[in-house]
Amino acid sequence: MQATLDAITEDLHRLRAQSLLPALEAGLNEQQIQAFHHGDGPCLVLAGAGSGKTTVLTRRVARLLAEGAAPERLFVATFTKKAADQMKERLARLLGEGGDAIVEKLWIGTFHAHCLRILKHEWAHLYGKAGYFQLADENWQVRVAKAILGDKDWMARGLPSPPFGLNVAYDPKGALSAVSAVKNRGHDVAEAERAFREHEPDWADSAIQTLCKFWRCYEQAKQAKFDLLAKKPSRRLDFDDLLIETLRLLQEHKDVREKYQRHFQYVLIDETQDTSRVQWEISRLLCAGHGNIFIVGDVGQAIYSFRGCSPEATVGQYGGAYPNGAIIRLPANYRSSATIVRAANELIGRAGIDARYRLAMAATQGEGDAPSRHEHATAEDEAQWVAETLKGLQSCGAMLQDCAVLFRTNAYSRALEEAFVQGGVPYVLQGALGFYARREVRDLCAFLQLTVERDSPAADEAVRRVLNVPSRKFGKPTHFLGHAFVAEVETQAARQGCSLYKILQAGQFKTSQGLAVKDFRDMIKDIHGAGEGAEERLRAARALGYDEWLLREEGHVEDEGNSRLDNLEELCVAARAFPSPKDFLDFVAAQNRPKEGEEAGDAVEMMTIHRAKGLEWPNVFVVGFAFGMLPHHRSLRWQDEDRTQLLADSIEEERRLAYVALTRAKSRVYLSWPLQHQTRALTRSPFLAEMPSLGPDAETPE
Ligand code: ATP
Ligand code: MG
Repeated sequence: MQATLDAITEDLHRLRAQSLLPALEAGLNEQQIQAFHHGDGPCLVLAGAGSGKTTVLTRRVARLLAEGAAPERLFVATFTKKAADQMKERLARLLGEGGDAIVEKLWIGTFHAHCLRILKHEWAHLYGKAGYFQLADENWQVRVAKAILGDKDWMARGLPSPPFGLNVAYDPKGALSAVSAVKNRGHDVAEAERAFREHEPDWADSAIQTLCKFWRCYEQAKQAKFDLLAKKPSRRLDFDDLLIETLRLLQEHKDVREKYQRHFQYVLIDETQDTSRVQWEISRLLCAGHGNIFIVGDVGQAIYSFRGCSPEATVGQYGGAYPNGAIIRLPANYRSSATIVRAANELIGRAGIDARYRLAMAATQGEGDAPSRHEHATAEDEAQWVAETLKGLQSCGAMLQDCAVLFRTNAYSRALEEAFVQGGVPYVLQGALGFYARREVRDLCAFLQLTVERDSPAADEAVRRVLNVPSRKFGKPTHFLGHAFVAEVETQAARQGCSLYKILQAGQFKTSQGLAVKDFRDMIKDIHGAGEGAEERLRAARALGYDEWLLREEGHVEDEGNSRLDNLEELCVAARAFPSPKDFLDFVAAQNRPKEGEEAGDAVEMMTIHRAKGLEWPNVFVVGFAFGMLPHHRSLRWQDEDRTQLLADSIEEERRLAYVALTRAKSRVYLSWPLQHQTRALTRSPFLAEMPSLGPDAETPE
């Protein structure tokens, strides 16, 4: 009976597959069809941007499903959750009726999500039945990192005193990201010193020693004995640990390994150039029996080396790992017009990419408009021009949602947002808060507010916001002015019907609190005394301890080269244009007002180039295409002390970013740059000269 049922099911699958197959392969080119139909065994698809890698991977998944593969036996890894959602949507459409239900059963998502799912099932193998794990989210990590680096507050809060307190001036996020980068490269804390020496050869001995100690303390802190909140023996796993522990689980527990090896019939990975060594090891283990690994990538788009990802560790290992594995190269770009493809080929042709992985794309679209170049005096002028050009496109019938504005770091969004608000251009900023909603920008505006006016709801809000931000005397937030104190001030103000600041002025507090409040009020006075202009006062607030505190809190640079200090510099520059602090604050309030009805409507998308990976739009503006922005000044390394000779290596990843940016566009690319940004004079990006097909290195006449 069962055998008959199985035979019928198989027949049904065959019929279904037969009916779907023609639609699934429709329009694919010869090489894509080869990848689409690739049977069992390893396959690497290498191709430039926009050549249909994600398309072919998605269609292949659909084919496997249509041919009867059980959805839960497919392991599909995408770079982001957003990419996974997009792929699911496409798959459901390709599969037709009932597709949604099938897609829900797939393992499709990021490596982190997959590993978390496996660990949730299997933790007892690693930590014993009585053990457990919980996530060490970013808040937890930073709190612990601060304690390790010497924050006495940790002790003050009555927490036990672990072997912490290195008392070194190292920013907590910087230390965490240095550790994360080596962990992702597959290093264990036992070999900390070797790991840092290998990957950060420029670092001084003392920095390496400090980081080694930091790493050891950090790993200890995640063990149960230091975790006071856990009700049973528990350990914390940070995001890197999710991968590392899954790998350890698979390596050390044969039964678990074999279970998952039997379970997953196919492993498929998109954006493989940016998978880490640990992710690669996990993938290899999962398909060790059958070798059904299908990976697609473009070495020219590797842009996450700061997270420890490297094509050498993945694509570069493919040949050694699978000597008989197939390698398919997709030759044609389907996304962009021929002039864009030509420029992109020239640009990436200059990259130091191993010849084995290098391949030029052939254009399939018409010639189209050449990428245009636009030079502006300032970033504000550039932003105005973007807003006007967008309106021009709109009046010619284009949809704003078909347009994207890409920049290297988020601080660059400030002038653009202002120009869009002023010009009535609806926009959506992806992956970041709007400029004037960012925490550090709000903090500084709160200080400014208190120098202008102290008896209003806005002033009360400002007091709540910055009362416990560092004062000079204490150098960091004190527990004297914590939540309980603010609550007390609020109660008194409500009772007396006055502002919070009035209560602070009345000053009926315990000695320690009284001193802290006095210090706060002195700071406001000093900021006020710094000058009549908004910029002078903002700069004073920064110099009086805010910058120093922020650096300790947040570190110098975050992921993707974003920096909160850059935001503060932007704020100071923005304030310059206003006659008084009050005018500037009114302007800021207007920027933060919710924009009605824009969410659902047609809007231009703005984001960093990193975020734009894998996406496409008809019209793309790459702004800040200048030396100092792209390549970014923080990435530059020099051969000599006078900074005349650039180390070519230092701009490799920046060039790949420029390539990613350029290749997001289908029909039009606008490359623009200001000659002045913040306090820095800029020149056009050297990458322009690397694209000779654009013609003489001059801007396009308006
Ligand atoms: P990226 O490197 O940016 O991730 P990719 O190689 O993954 O790009 P896709 O996003 O799959 O490329 O495809 C780029 C565009 O080309 C998409 O609009 C896709 O629909 C289209 N496309 C892919 N293959 C074909 C084809 N054979 N014929 C026509 N259009 C195609
Ligand atoms: Mg893709």
